[in-house]
Amino acid sequence: MIIQGAQRTGDVRERADAVVVGTGAGGGTLAAYLAERGWDVVMLEKGGFFRAEDFSQREEDAMADFNGRRGLDSTTDNAIFLNYAEAVGGTTVHYWGDSFRTPEDRLARWREESGLEWMTGDELNPHWDAVEHELGIHVAEEELLNENNRLVRRGCEALGVEAHIPPTARVDCIGCGWTQFGCAYNRKTSQLITTIPRVSKAGGRIYSDARVERILLRDGRAAGVEGVLVDRETELPRGRFRVDADVVVLAAGALGTAELLLRNFDDPTVGRRFYINPHYWVFADFGREIDNVTGIPCAYVVHEWRRVRRSADGEYAGGGYIMLTSHQSPGITAAMLPEAGAAHTERMRRFRRLGSLMSVIDEEHPGRVFLDGGVRKTEYRVRGVDVLKAVDYLRNASRIFLAAGAREVWVPDVYGTVVRSEAELRERITGRSVQPNAQFCAGSHLLGTAPLGADPDDSFAGPTGEAHRVAGLYVADGAALPGSVSVDPSLTIMGAARWIAAGVHERHGRAGA
Ligand SMILES: Cc1cc2nc3c(=O)[nH]c(=O)nc-3n(C[C@H](O)[C@H](O)[C@H](O)COP(=O)(O)OP(=O)(O)OC[C@H]3O[C@@H](n4cnc5c(N)ncnc54)[C@H](O)[C@@H]3O)c2cc1C
Repeated sequence: MIIQGAQRTGDVRERADAVVVGTGAGGGTLAAYLAERGWDVVMLEKGGFFRAEDFSQREEDAMADFNGRRGLDSTTDNAIFLNYAEAVGGTTVHYWGDSFRTPEDRLARWREESGLEWMTGDELNPHWDAVEHELGIHVAEEELLNENNRLVRRGCEALGVEAHIPPTARVDCIGCGWTQFGCAYNRKTSQLITTIPRVSKAGGRIYSDARVERILLRDGRAAGVEGVLVDRETELPRGRFRVDADVVVLAAGALGTAELLLRNFDDPTVGRRFYINPHYWVFADFGREIDNVTGIPCAYVVHEWRRVRRSADGEYAGGGYIMLTSHQSPGITAAMLPEAGAAHTERMRRFRRLGSLMSVIDEEHPGRVFLDGGVRKTEYRVRGVDVLKAVDYLRNASRIFLAAGAREVWVPDVYGTVVRSEAELRERITGRSVQPNAQFCAGSHLLGTAPLGADPDDSFAGPTGEAHRVAGLYVADGAALPGSVSVDPSLTIMGAARWIAAGVHERHGRAGA
């Protein structure tokens, strides 16, 4: 059952076996697992409850309705836009559905550096098999590639670059192209239409517009949570809620989980590292209209440079990112393109001629999340080798578009960088393009702020997901991952959350299992 803030007057008191904070990739997956095994589950979601018919799929509506901080969240220097959703279903309401299992080299790193021995294919494959089945994840159909996708493929084939059509979380997609603003057709298999109804069906209660503020403790153990219910229209409080439970799971996303922990505990491991997979863009003018709007926004992914290459003496020699073909909507594109007035208008006149590719940089230098005067803030600076990765990406993305037949390629920086040849791209694309505020940069893979690990001085929670210092308190979302995944993270988050859920069930199992 979904209970919305506006439907309530007065306070709410609940008792459950488990209370789950956040209804996104991690929370939805874990809650459905437990609820279907006899657990009495309550879920609490700060954002609103939207149905397919509520999604107008207009940028301005979606940003206002369910983007975190109304689509205006950024790092303290305003250099990086942080993109996430606050809604029943979490950021999966927003996401594009590309679904990759964690690469083996990344699992090996987490085993070695974080002591997460269970991060193996043997442990995780059964959970990924289940999630992929439940979400209908499959390699996107050829018909759902738009022209931008096909042009990027052409460029990659011409250059001999490794790239693929990705697995996607959608069933019978009609290819409207606007999924980023909420799927209006119930085809993208976000948590909103998959795990959340399963929790309801198993008797769980899901409160939307319910902002958790406090984690309750009894004898040093987690004992529940409390917070405030709001009316989404008026933003006025409707009452307070309290949920008592033996197991408390935080799955409020890397920002939400960190904020909640920072408000409740003085623990230096929280928010110390904040990964975002910086996204930069390259646009290409093909001199004729191309379709970069319909179909699956990202139905083609360039994997060639996922791993860093090093020279014989260990110096950085390229790579450290993947590239995604990118959804293009007019408002956001206008915000990304450089210049103002007539020059900007001229660029936007060419909107329908533009292809685009974005980066997912596998960063080595994370940022941080902290409270300042009671306000959650983030700091993040693309620096060191990550600058070299960004420049390498800008150049290789430009090469792909030139090989695909683009007339000119635009790096949307304040210098208005345009390249038409290999010589120009070597000369004109430099580190100046990726200085803070020199071009639009975003992060939408938010990770690592309350990580799992064997070392209590370096991680918030132990390998099982249970906090080192608070029994019964678990983390099971993007915050829990030790770092960047090197590919889009949702399937890693879901697989890990399901693995954590199985452990919770085994250790604190309920009758009816
Ligand atoms: C535009 C876009 C496209 C993307 N595309 C892809 C893609 O194609 N493939 C992919 O793998 N990943 C993609 N991602 C990233 C992916 O969606 C996220 O990494 C993933 O959803 C994060 O899961 P999570 O469980 O950590 O948090 P979320 O899914 O963000 O869920 C956290 C929830 O907790 C709620 N919450 C926060 N604080 C509180 C509180 N105090 N009380 C109650 N509730 C709270 C939030 O409102 C939110 O709903 C995309 C992201 C964006 C923005």
